[in-house]
Amino acid sequence: MTETVIPILDLREHRYRSMASGIPAELVPPTGLLSDRRGRPLHDLRISVTDRCNFRCVYCMPKDVFDKDYTFLPHAELLSFEEITRAARLFVAHGVEKIRLTGGEPLLRKNIEKLVEMLARLETVSGKPLDLTLTTNASLLARKARALRDAGLTRVSVSLDAIDDTTFRRMNDVDFAVRDVLAGIEAAQAAGLAPLKVNMVVKRGVNDSEIVPMAAHFRGSGVIVRFIEFMDVGASNHWCMDEVLPSAEVVRRIDAAFPLEAIGANYLGETAERWRYRDGAGEIGVISSVSHAFCGDCSRIRLSTEGRLYLCLFATEGHDLRELLRSGRSDLEIANAIAALWQQRTDNYSEQRSDPAIRAARAERKIEMSYIGG
Ligand code: SAM
Ligand code: SF4
Ligand code: SF4
Repeated sequence: MTETVIPILDLREHRYRSMASGIPAELVPPTGLLSDRRGRPLHDLRISVTDRCNFRCVYCMPKDVFDKDYTFLPHAELLSFEEITRAARLFVAHGVEKIRLTGGEPLLRKNIEKLVEMLARLETVSGKPLDLTLTTNASLLARKARALRDAGLTRVSVSLDAIDDTTFRRMNDVDFAVRDVLAGIEAAQAAGLAPLKVNMVVKRGVNDSEIVPMAAHFRGSGVIVRFIEFMDVGASNHWCMDEVLPSAEVVRRIDAAFPLEAIGANYLGETAERWRYRDGAGEIGVISSVSHAFCGDCSRIRLSTEGRLYLCLFATEGHDLRELLRSGRSDLEIANAIAALWQQRTDNYSEQRSDPAIRAARAERKIEMSYIGG
């Protein structure tokens, strides 16, 4: 298998563009209202703070690619906390209200609490606190939950792909135990990081037998489990359609055990479709980016670990924000370059995935999830 994979470092080196040409002659201050070419606002910023991870989830960082010879980014390539916060402030001025820290494993980034503290000081255009959250594999959460909460983190999402220990160890591929993730979840709840969401990526034939046990385990606990369809992100996870279990089937199985009813979205552009237990034991979500594209409302932009912007999770090229941050450009110039980029956005890969020609054209050029951030 290994020989068919394009080295990911090469992808990083070649597939990005300068943003300098997007700076217009006449600079306009941000208004908090920015729309792309399909009328989609910019609402949600995902920041990858490291490309490293201590797990090797089979659907994300398979060991045959991310092995001991794999070259991760050197520290000088990473955006500093000051650079990240400066960029975030400009995005917030354009209307971003939600920031999610991700990776790789974000809790591996040294002093991540410090970054949380810096970002938590930002306010939305209407003067409200940001929705500041983080996605983690929870391996370090029991140790860090309290400090993250004290630094201003509002919520946390934890990835857990099975409640059965053997299945989970097989999925994370580093022999990490379910009980240690559960300890992280408990610590986060005790610290007041709520509502806590648990993300489970479903691979047919690998962990789909865990759907109902996961629902059963977390029912009534206040934790919202979200079942995610296995996606064709990146070029290394050996994705195939046969391993995707459509969300409709997830809902059917849970409903048969614990009757469900649909509930509305919390806000426009929410990725998860929400369902609640008819007996009042809480809610679940399904994220159906393969079987039911939600590009029409997609208001997300992604900032990679080394400061490149991606307009879509399935993008094949990034835009070099770091160059602007490090070349003495003013905030107004950079804000205008960001506006120009968003205003020309047309991305809608999930709507196009069913076209074999488009899928094939992108197949080996998509950016890895662990680099761009989930
Ligand atoms: N390491 C952290 C974690 O696992 O929570 C944050 C980064 S991870 C890339 C973010 C999310 O992406 C996780 O919930 C993970 O399960 C999900 N993910 C990764 N690869 C995926 C794939 N191929 N399909 C669907 N979800 C995926
Ligand atoms: Fe690491 Fe998260 Fe990817 Fe798993 S999903 S390998 S925990 S980055
Ligand atoms: Fe957004 Fe791209 Fe996903 Fe569509 S495929 S929902 S545009 S990230």
